[in-house]
Amino acid sequence: MPDAMKEIHDEIGALAAAFGSTVADLKGNQDKLLTYGRGLETLVSERTAELAQEKANIETHVAQRTAELRLANDELRQQAAELSKRNEEIQLFSKMNDFLQTSTTEAEAYAVISDVVTQMFPDDSGAVFVLSASRTMLEASAVWGPLPPSNVIFPPNECWAHRRGQVHLALTHERQCQHVSDEGHMYVCLPLLAQGETLGVLHILDGPLTSDLARAGEARMADKCRLAKILADNIGLGIANLKLRESMRNLSIRDSLTGLFNRRYMEEAFAQEMHRATRNEAQLAVIMIDIDHFKRFNDNFGHDGGDAVLRTLGEYLQKHVRGGDIACRFGGEEFILILSPATADGACQRAEKIRAGAALLNLTHANRDLGKITLSLGVAMFPNNAADAAAVVKAADVALYEAKRNGRNRVVMAAEKAGEPASTV
Ligand code: GH3
Ligand code: MG
Ligand code: MG
Repeated sequence: MPDAMKEIHDEIGALAAAFGSTVADLKGNQDKLLTYGRGLETLVSERTAELAQEKANIETHVAQRTAELRLANDELRQQAAELSKRNEEIQLFSKMNDFLQTSTTEAEAYAVISDVVTQMFPDDSGAVFVLSASRTMLEASAVWGPLPPSNVIFPPNECWAHRRGQVHLALTHERQCQHVSDEGHMYVCLPLLAQGETLGVLHILDGPLTSDLARAGEARMADKCRLAKILADNIGLGIANLKLRESMRNLSIRDSLTGLFNRRYMEEAFAQEMHRATRNEAQLAVIMIDIDHFKRFNDNFGHDGGDAVLRTLGEYLQKHVRGGDIACRFGGEEFILILSPATADGACQRAEKIRAGAALLNLTHANRDLGKITLSLGVAMFPNNAADAAAVVKAADVALYEAKRNGRNRVVMAAEKAGEPASTV
């Protein structure tokens, strides 16, 4: 091969070798790039997955916190509602106690109790049963609601709460008190206590029928019990106070032997009745009554025998006066009846009836027959016989003296005007 050709051949060979090595380099670089690209992809997808996980975590966390906040918010709202409910309850109790303290009659007090219980348990019915003076019966003094109890008087042993002196919660009709006739509703009975003494029972009949969700019903009744216990304590004390006030008032206005009004009360009431009679242009009558020869009862049967006579006549007079009339023991064996309004004829007829009826009374003491009484009675009218209270009583007393003088056991009407002769009825 000529030299020139050889040279060219070598050069081509060198070029080919260089090209081959360049191609190999390029291929190596491409492989590297591919590997790098794959690594990058893996990294990106790993990071993406991590980010997605992180996002999911954050979202879960946020959702959790939101739920927690919502729960806390609900709890707060519930607590606020509970507090405002308690607040209302406290206000109601305080209002009830204020009214109970200032109630002067039992009727007033029970109207207050009904009003408050209706506000506290608006869907429920119920009653306050109070033990009778003889302690043999529980009587409804207040009833309320759409299903008031049909049994309004029953013996105390028909109520579990009264018998056991404890709250009786009846969720089913299995442990039902005998006095409760309703079987479709849950109820609670609570003893009304004051100074350890049971005064009666508070009965609350649940409004909805028992068939609603048992658990919800039980929770409702548990809450009702809580409130009813406080209510029962307040009512118990209220009734005890009222009874105490009443007995104190009775002590101050009633005669302890006969239970009739005393002279002090008679004088107060007489003044009021005179005003009323004047306003109405009506008359009122005073009948003064004196037992004839009463001293003999004391002499024959002792002072206790005499007292038994006074008690029997007291009961008799109480039974024979009408609603607005006043029967009082004036002192000793003397009694006064005030009839308002009255006419002279009407008063004389009543006096005559009393005289005749009293003569028939059976008088006994310590199993001994005390015999019979007769009465002398004097009748005077306001304003016809006299223009002021003391003068009317005086006129009746003068007429009574006249009855004694004329032979006792009779009724004498006062003289129309002082100085004129009194008239025997
Ligand atoms: P007359 O027909 O004139 O009214 O005769 P009298 O005996 O009823 O009248 P007198 O005034 O002489 O006697 C009343 C007696 O009543 C005298 C007194 O001892 C008695 N007496 C007064 N208060 C009571 C009391 O609370 N209990 C008893 N047992 N006796 C009383
Ligand atoms: Mg007398
Ligand atoms: Mg007498």
